[in-house]
Amino acid sequence: MAGTLVGRVAVVTGGASGIGRACAQRLARDGADVAVLDLDADAAEGVAAEIVAEGGSALALGVDVADRQSIDRAVKEVHERFGPVAVLVNSAGKEGAKRFLDITEEAWNNLLAVNLTGTFHCCQAVVPDMVEAGWGRIVNISSSSAHSGQPFMTHYVASKAGVIGFTKALALELGPSGITVNTIPPGFVDTPMLRRNEKLGRFVQSMDYHIAQTPVRRTGRPEDIAAACAFLASEEAGYITGQVFGVNGGRNT
Ligand code: NAP
Repeated sequence: MAGTLVGRVAVVTGGASGIGRACAQRLARDGADVAVLDLDADAAEGVAAEIVAEGGSALALGVDVADRQSIDRAVKEVHERFGPVAVLVNSAGKEGAKRFLDITEEAWNNLLAVNLTGTFHCCQAVVPDMVEAGWGRIVNISSSSAHSGQPFMTHYVASKAGVIGFTKALALELGPSGITVNTIPPGFVDTPMLRRNEKLGRFVQSMDYHIAQTPVRRTGRPEDIAAACAFLASEEAGYITGQVFGVNGGRNT
């Protein structure tokens, strides 16, 4: 593979599905050696196999981002196979929809453990590599719902707003080390998560209504997010850090 990321190692969490899958495929096309990390190890294997079949370089690892030991084990394997990590995309995420008064403390903690603490674990596990190299790119996938709010999703929206604040603070801390940290808050991207929500009747209005409310009049594609992610991971995005990089068809401006 030729491309701007040749010689760089990228880790993509949630890489087995939807946005993470598209990011893994895109970074591999740009030349990175990609570690596809996901709770669903078989699906991660499938994505890694697709990348290799296309001529790219990939490795699949089953992980739970909420479990620090699982992440540390995975990063050790990435080191052994590919070397130090230069690019991290945190896309692993879990949705939830419940009336506020029905959210148990356990459900609240579980969701934050994946969406927010998982992002913390993964960053902390790979930042030493980036500091050592004096170069790194971190892209955290948050959610446009952190701007707009979303009824029945207080735990989800709080976790994603946390990712945005985390990104801004980490960017300030790591900038002097040559590491950029940005967040993409997607909105309405056609992935298995979106289709699950539709099936469960979690949209207050129909899909067509939401498309009509989107200025570009379509759902997002995982590749739309992957393109922005690839740019933020590139050398030429080195002066962009701490930013909330909206990719949402104009739903939030
Ligand atoms: P997706 O298709 O469901 O992909 C998410 C992936 O993350 C799945 O493969 C899932 O595995 C994995 N995952 C879940 N919990 C994990 C854990 N604890 N450890 C490791 N992997 C885990 O969803 P998506 O739509 O691509 O979402 C990707 C990210 O974008 C998420 O953070 C989501 O919140 C965010 N987002 C999406 C949209 C949208 O419109 N699609 C909008 C805003 C934000 P399992 O399937 O086995 O659970």
